[in-house]
Order: sequence, then structure tokens, then C-alpha cells
Amino acid sequence: MFNVAIDGPSGAGKSSVSKEAAKRMGFIHIDTGALYRSLAYSAIKNKININDEISLKNMLNMTKINIEFQDGVQNVILNGENVNDKIRTEEVSKGASDISKIPMIRAFLLDLQRDLARENNVVMDGRDIGTVVLPNADVKIFITASPEQRAERRYKELLAKGEKVVYNDILEKLIYRDHQDTHREIAPLKPCDDAVIIDTSDLDFSQSVNAVLDVIREKYND
Ligand code: C5P
Repeated sequence: MFNVAIDGPSGAGKSSVSKEAAKRMGFIHIDTGALYRSLAYSAIKNKININDEISLKNMLNMTKINIEFQDGVQNVILNGENVNDKIRTEEVSKGASDISKIPMIRAFLLDLQRDLARENNVVMDGRDIGTVVLPNADVKIFITASPEQRAERRYKELLAKGEKVVYNDILEKLIYRDHQDTHREIAPLKPCDDAVIIDTSDLDFSQSVNAVLDVIREKYND
């Protein structure tokens, strides 16, 4: 199987670019952030204190995550419920960043991610895919962009969804999440030595997709 690992901070366009690149390659796209988000959603919904190890363990024991694809779109099914539309709020974004620091959570999701890559040609995006989840991936890419650019994209995205948002709040939260994601002890966000770094600050969507496809095709045609 051919595995492409794409990592980078939130808002760099990672997921949408990975999704389009996967589609053009005929691969499946796995958005691993959605997995962390679905566990955060579950903790919020069930009022679980994520710092209470026993409660969290109980929650995981009762959690079954399945991934289904519909027209190339990944659907996360959490205990039978399709949570795709529920995991994109700011509350869940913050919750996902908090919960992803916990080793038990990362271990819980590791096998699921590896199994998907073993059975399919994948473009998998996240924070630790090249470093931890798929260290032997055929292609590793790190997509980044300036915090201001990323905050602006997120701001526009939320406005388009009709949410009331303030740009400075978004920027502040994004910087907080970046700090948390890059400084955590376990699987911190960082480019691995063999990753190709793509900065999308000055690239539009299709230029970003092409930049990623160039890197993939160089190896895929070998
Ligand atoms: O990519 P997305 O913003 O949806 O991810 C939500 C959160 O999940 C991130 O802030 C990060 O803390 C966490 N995450 C992670 N490892 C991954 C993917 C996401 O820690 N592979």
C-alpha cells in the first residue's frame, strides 16, 4: 500500500488539500483530527472530566469508532452516531487539543489509524503521522502557513457557516493551540527530518494541491 503522511498546524489547509490530493490520486483520505475531535465531543457530551483517568478509561471502554466513506467523504461514526457535523465547533476544537495530550487517548487511536493505512492507499493528515503513526510512510509532507493567514482562513470559514466570530479571538485561540500541540510531551507537532515542507501562506488552494501532488507523484511513479 502507498502511504502519504501529511502533518502541520491547524488552519494551514492541510485537510482540504489532503482530501483533494487523495481524490486526484484515487487514494482514501483520513483526517485524523476528526478522530480526536470525536473523542472530545464524546467527553463534552457525556460530561466526562478528561483529567479523571478512571472516567476517561470508562468512556474509552464504551467507545467504538468506525470510519465510513461516502463519495470520498470521511464520516466518523461514534457508537453508531455520525458525528461529522458536530465536531467542527470552537468548543470541540479546544477540547480536541486538550484531550490529544493524554497518552491513553493517543494509544486508543493509534491502531485504528495504522490499520487503515495497512489496508488502503492513503493520504493521512494530522500532527504526528510522519513521526509516530506511519514512520515508514512513502511520502511525508509538512504543510504550514503563518498564524495570521491561518486565522484568517478559519475566520472566513466560520463566518460562511453563519457563526458569530471575532478575528482576534480566533488568532489567539490558534496560537494557544499551536503552543499546546508543539509543546506537549507526547507526539508533539514537528516536521520530521525526511518531510518535505510546503508553506501555503502565499499559495491558493489549487496551487497548494499541485505542490502536494508534485511531491507524491515523484515517489509514486518510481
Ligand atoms: O486537525 P484538527 O484541527 O481537526 O485537529 C484537532 C486537534 O486534534 C488538534 O489541535 C490536535 O491537538 C489534535 N490532533 C493530534 N494528532 C493528530 C491530529 C489531531 O494531536 N494526528
